[in-house]
Amino acid sequence: MDTPEAPDLENTTDTAQAEPEAQPLDRYECRACGYIYEPEKGDSSGGILPGTPFEELPVTWRCPVCTARAAAFANIGPSGTASGFKENFGYGLGVNTLTPVQKSLLIFGGLLSAFFVMLSLYGLN
Ligand SMILES: [Zn+2]
Repeated sequence: MDTPEAPDLENTTDTAQAEPEAQPLDRYECRACGYIYEPEKGDSSGGILPGTPFEELPVTWRCPVCTARAAAFANIGPSGTASGFKENFGYGLGVNTLTPVQKSLLIFGGLLSAFFVMLSLYGLN
């Protein structure tokens, strides 16, 4: 009795993953006041329906908090990701953003620890 249902369940999960509409829309943050436009919520005070992408907002649309133009907004990524993750990724893990001093410290620290590992190996022998 249960066997005919199993293939249907697999099909539904496949289509859900491939569905383009499931893609989260990018949120935009007002550089002037920090207001975040969330496409899933829209902007009720500005007459924007929920589900409206930022790119499709009318040119007359202004930030509901500080009335800044849409040009003052910055893309902060979809709401599905952890907040601020895209920006933190560059600052936290990007070695290229380190200063030369920090880089040499990293390299020197690495060499030093490798040296001590070798020393401890000699000590074991
Ligand atoms: Zn604003």
